[in-house]
Amino acid sequence: MKYYSTNKNTPDVTLKEAVVKGLASDNGLFMPERIEKFSPSFFENIHKLSFNEIAFEVARKFFGEDVEESNLKEIVNSTLQFDCPVKQVANNTYSLELFHGPTLAFKDVGGRFMARLLNYFLAGNKKQVHVLVATSGDTGSAVANGFLGVEGIHVHVLYPKGKVSKIQESQFTTLGQNITALEVDGTFDDCQHLVKTAFLDAELNKKLLLTSANSINVARFLPQAFYYFNAYARLKEKGILQNKKLVVSVPSGNFGNLTAGLFAKEMGLPVEQFLAANNENDVVYNYLKTGNYTPRPSVETIANAMDVGAPSNFARILDLYNHSHEKISSVIKGYRYTDEQIRQTIKNVFTQTGYLCDPHGACGYMALQEFLAPDQVGIFLETAHPAKFTETVEAVVGKGNVPLPQKLAAFMKGTKQSIAMSKDFKSFKTYLSDLK
Ligand SMILES: *Cc1c(COP(=O)(O)O)cnc(C)c1O
Repeated sequence: MKYYSTNKNTPDVTLKEAVVKGLASDNGLFMPERIEKFSPSFFENIHKLSFNEIAFEVARKFFGEDVEESNLKEIVNSTLQFDCPVKQVANNTYSLELFHGPTLAFKDVGGRFMARLLNYFLAGNKKQVHVLVATSGDTGSAVANGFLGVEGIHVHVLYPKGKVSKIQESQFTTLGQNITALEVDGTFDDCQHLVKTAFLDAELNKKLLLTSANSINVARFLPQAFYYFNAYARLKEKGILQNKKLVVSVPSGNFGNLTAGLFAKEMGLPVEQFLAANNENDVVYNYLKTGNYTPRPSVETIANAMDVGAPSNFARILDLYNHSHEKISSVIKGYRYTDEQIRQTIKNVFTQTGYLCDPHGACGYMALQEFLAPDQVGIFLETAHPAKFTETVEAVVGKGNVPLPQKLAAFMKGTKQSIAMSKDFKSFKTYLSDLK
């Protein structure tokens, strides 16, 4: 299948090119030229399939023409070594827990899938491939853990010194093997600048095979559709959807997760309504209300993975619906919440139901509470384990109420290994030039 750019100013590319390049050369985002629908009978029987079987059927619709069937199955199965279970939280309200992967956040699904797909496309390539990724925290850990141990690929994670949490830092500095962490004396923007400059450097690109693992990569973003289908199947299996319509609430920052849900809907998944739950970074919320899209610098909140002022996947949403504000604002309803509302919700949900939300999931939960009608069933995406935000969550529900999962404890015990790097390009170029 071919992929086109949302800016429509560059020729279409193959899946392999889209995955290796990440961003189109006209700075647009890649979109598949077709979205194939499932037949109604697929949905009638979907509850008889396992998560992995469903994911494979979905993957086949996107990647079936370009990836050998047995390889695709292998990529799907080795990506999904963990479950994304549905849990009841309140009457008609369910949580889709996306935090059972290695770094305890939903980005593991796309990170792992992309690593394996890239490995598939670059197999037989004699040259070592170098993945450069700048991170403000969570992306680095998802990409590093996704690529950990993948042969022929080395990942270099650039992160701003002193500006990521200890938990986040431990998730990409303690891995070793084919992962190197570079602690940059600067900001996240400096890290991103170093990466971008490296991609433009002719000398480096002559010597090395460099690629990015940006969150806008189609191989990271499309696989997120898998768990929407699975959530539907598991609710149907329990008989919960009889005579009820499904509402899905997505805590959103860059809107990649929600866009994958919209793709699922375009493929026929019976979702009545999507809710986009934001923190105080509300540019899409304002667009949905007014039709005016005005990106602006992000503000810091306690749901910091959604502190995005210019959501990159918004371009995909516009493209998907031919820039129609009327259509987009009917498919997606927007909500936004202050830090105070987020704290209050974490507390209320915990005291009333015993369920522990993280600050992002709490936004999703609130949106459902505001929207849901009695003839509907709501599901909100729990995008991270609450222990990833222990300080915030414990301050609300009390010390000792946020158990540290085994996986996180193991990261915290590991030894930090990182290379100090200045923010000027010369030293980064010297570092890269010494690689093979
Ligand atoms: C990345 C992230 C989000 C936002 O997801 P987008 O796809 O960028 O909208 C929400 N919650 C958590 C925990 C995240 O890490």
